Amino acid sequence: MPQILFQTHFKYIWQMMIDLRSDTVTRPSAQMLEAMMKAPVGDDVFEEDPSVNELENYVASMFGMEKALFCPSGTMTNQIAIRCHTQPGNEVICDENAHVYFYEGGGIAFNSGCQVKLIKGDRGRITAHAIKEAINPEDIHRPISTLVCLENTANRGGGSIYGGDEMDAIAALCRSNDISLHLDGARLWNALIATGQSAQWFGERFDSISVCLSKGLGAPVGSLLIGKKSFIKKARRFRKVMGGGMRQAGMLASAGKYAIENNLNRISIDHKNAKQVAAVLATLPFVGKILPVETNILIFEVQQRFSPQTFVDELKLWNVLCLPVSSTQVRMVFHLDITDDMIKKLVKCLPEL
Ligand SMILES: *Cc1c(COP(=O)(O)O)cnc(C)c1O
Repeated sequence: MPQILFQTHFKYIWQMMIDLRSDTVTRPSAQMLEAMMKAPVGDDVFEEDPSVNELENYVASMFGMEKALFCPSGTMTNQIAIRCHTQPGNEVICDENAHVYFYEGGGIAFNSGCQVKLIKGDRGRITAHAIKEAINPEDIHRPISTLVCLENTANRGGGSIYGGDEMDAIAALCRSNDISLHLDGARLWNALIATGQSAQWFGERFDSISVCLSKGLGAPVGSLLIGKKSFIKKARRFRKVMGGGMRQAGMLASAGKYAIENNLNRISIDHKNAKQVAAVLATLPFVGKILPVETNILIFEVQQRFSPQTFVDELKLWNVLCLPVSSTQVRMVFHLDITDDMIKKLVKCLPEL
């Protein structure tokens, strides 16, 4: 059976490589593939795919929001949200390291014709105070500030988590200035597990939320955009325009539902693993500053004989993969395909470098 070959093949690769480049490298488990094979499907552009509808309703109600829209990627959900909340010439406020600005190929300009006002935040997180300063006054010379984007957890901030009070203050500020508030929650799951905050808490404070199924949760594809009914109606049009209207997408949606139901709570293991490896790195002379480890992302400086690239190259000889993320820093991301044995091997080989 091809499915068995498929599984065996990947099992072989897993045993060979400890892949910490990203939490997007996970492969669907046999049980997830089984859920996908069994999924009832229909044409989702006609809104007739029962598995997609089920996932959208499930996630919308999880967040206590009206509606959700299943999309191929988190870049698409973010970009659709920005397009829905703005008009060309408007200004979007975000952290200088925000994924929407840093990693989406200039999409804010390309898709929405907006410019950005960047804030230098603390590990990817911006404050209500800084946002207040960044909002343009009513003046025909100035672009209209229409949208604030937050990222939680913040990827380039090393998986950092926003404080509840700060988000409260930001939500109140946006409301009183008639500015929309979008959350790039690609790894919001990690924040929920690390803090014990509820999804509804976020649903009450943001106008739109994007969540990814293909990161720590381990689904092969998919993100959801969540918001009010009228917002999602608009978003559905932009999804079609961007070419993201999928047909029998229920197979993918059912992988996503399986992932939320089965892989959400185990995310705490990834957090524990990241902390354990950080503790080992902290004892090594060639490791410099380590960003505080709050979730599943570990970002650290390398020094002495190592540059980020030579560090990554040398670790690769041990079958460990990670990524250079700046001129001084390396990133490791922990996820559900990282086993206890892999962690044991990793903490043994790091001091041998
Ligand atoms: C991964 C990621 C996304 C979406 O990425 P896709 O690869 O397009 O799914 C969005 N925001 C953040 C913070 C991310 O890390």
